[in-house]
Amino acid sequence: MPELPEVETVRRGLQPVMEGARIVKAEARRKDLRFPFQKDFVARLDGQTVTGLGRRAKYLLADLASGDVLLMHLGMSGSFRVINHEDKKTPGKFHHPRSEDRAHDHVVFHMSSGAAVVFNDPRRFGYMKIIARKALEEEPLLRGLGPEPLGSEFDAAMLARSCANRKTSLKAALLDQRVVAGLGNIYVCEALYRAHLSPLRLAATLATKAGQRKGVAGGEPTDHARRLVTAIHAVLNQAIKAGGSSLRDHRQTTGELGYFQHSFQVYDREGEKCQTAGCGGIVKRFTQNGRSTFWCPKCQK
Ligand SMILES: [Zn+2]
Repeated sequence: MPELPEVETVRRGLQPVMEGARIVKAEARRKDLRFPFQKDFVARLDGQTVTGLGRRAKYLLADLASGDVLLMHLGMSGSFRVINHEDKKTPGKFHHPRSEDRAHDHVVFHMSSGAAVVFNDPRRFGYMKIIARKALEEEPLLRGLGPEPLGSEFDAAMLARSCANRKTSLKAALLDQRVVAGLGNIYVCEALYRAHLSPLRLAATLATKAGQRKGVAGGEPTDHARRLVTAIHAVLNQAIKAGGSSLRDHRQTTGELGYFQHSFQVYDREGEKCQTAGCGGIVKRFTQNGRSTFWCPKCQK
């Protein structure tokens, strides 16, 4: 499943062909993806200029001149492809195999820039919804989301406050979208590894004892919280940078966006030697809250 850096890479790949361009014609080739399309889905897109393409957690948000926002989610297997009429080559280099089957091209935006933006999704867990910008804050899909991990409000104090009275593991807390938005299994494993923190540690230990007593109102951060925020920033920024260079350096005829080669330090490395200098431990895997956790029991405490 695409995580925040992949979605951000998709956003950066689509920006040049969508932002400032008009949707000359929108096509929805089925009645539904994960959810049915709104009845006026195509009508609210046709002829609209995309004034901006943003991201919130793992949602892409295209602002339209009409005051509507087109919300797009890639689901499990969704991908975008840009077909440029003059030049069939468009940027993108990919890690996961994407569907090449044109039968799964479900949505197409024909842009005034001359490019066609195609959404392909074999499993159809992706979805699109048009929301009036003024109703965005009340939108159920977005309302419960916590801070953006790379936004200015997300820091050690905020993370400690959200974790101060949690009885869950640190890993479960980080996967909770109300604590921090857009982090998934892979980058949570990577961040905990780099911060040398055990995925099994109690989330509340990110706050000082006094902070835990005061609950969410308190939550003075421990050094662990500071280390973890630094690690979250580092893994995400590094992955976004890798995605960015895949957009710049590689041109692929399929033009699919956002699934780039990226090597992880601990994720998917069960049985391999820990990469932490001087550790000598072996990476282990176990199932935690239904997901695979990869970690080094020797240096993650
Ligand atoms: Zn280790």
